[in-house]
Amino acid sequence: MTSKEHRVFRFAPSPNGYLHLGHAYSALLNFDLARECGGRLLLRIEDIDTRRARPEFEAAIYEDLAWLGLDWERPVRRQSEQFGEYARALERLDAMGLIYACDCKRSDIARIAAGKPGWPRDPDGSPLYPGTCRVKPRRTAREVLAKGGVALRLDMRRASRLTGQGLTWREVGALPGAERSDPAAPLRDDGEGRPVPADPAEWGDVVLARKDTPASYHIAVVVDDALQGVTDVVRGKDLFEATSLHRLLQRLLDLPAPNYRHHGLVLDEKGEKLAKSVASTALRALRAEGWTPADVRRRVGL
Ligand code: GLU
Repeated sequence: MTSKEHRVFRFAPSPNGYLHLGHAYSALLNFDLARECGGRLLLRIEDIDTRRARPEFEAAIYEDLAWLGLDWERPVRRQSEQFGEYARALERLDAMGLIYACDCKRSDIARIAAGKPGWPRDPDGSPLYPGTCRVKPRRTAREVLAKGGVALRLDMRRASRLTGQGLTWREVGALPGAERSDPAAPLRDDGEGRPVPADPAEWGDVVLARKDTPASYHIAVVVDDALQGVTDVVRGKDLFEATSLHRLLQRLLDLPAPNYRHHGLVLDEKGEKLAKSVASTALRALRAEGWTPADVRRRVGL
């Protein structure tokens, strides 16, 4: 276990909408956990999707978090300024023979999957890639990234063969399913956690660089967590399954594995996950209605 003084937490929102109560819960949890152990809190702006990221949403993130009473280290890391780091990681995977260029359209994949009942789907519900481009003539990651217009995929079978079986991550705190739908899971952190078996194969040949963006969330998040020395990833349980993939990439790229804690999600009155598209739970809307930061803490159970 990392010594107390050196624990590093991060909150990593995407500036493609206004923060809502779910983000407030995640940010406050990270802030409280960091404060409890005398650790550090970083804020990372996950804006690799430059078509959806907007400066006004980024400005609102700073404003909303400050209103909640949070403090974080500066400078803030912005992923849109780090594409060179992600390209280096992709080139390394390429040198290991683990990635290939793919120009299939999402609709091609959907059509192939629709024609075969029972076609496997990834944990997000998308059909697994059939591997059509895996056997095409090789183009290097550098060539593909320089030209754009084509995606890079991980060859999952080769990658899994390399890492072998038995890949796990350490989950600290309550596991998903063990907590109440009320997200007020206790802050108790036994510091040790328990190992969770990673199953990256359930993602198939996942996209690591997109046609229009030279990095995917998965590659950016593992590179950044490592470069920023993050020891504790505390995020929503909607990213629980993605952690299998993150562990695989960490192992392939020789990056350290942080501890993970996947917390419950804040649900609306109907028991549904909150969405950025619903303005009524946006922190700024609540603030305009007269909510205080203490009201937010009470609502999310902190
Ligand atoms: N940027 C992601 C989001 O806003 C969070 C990613 C993470 O915490 O790993 O959902």
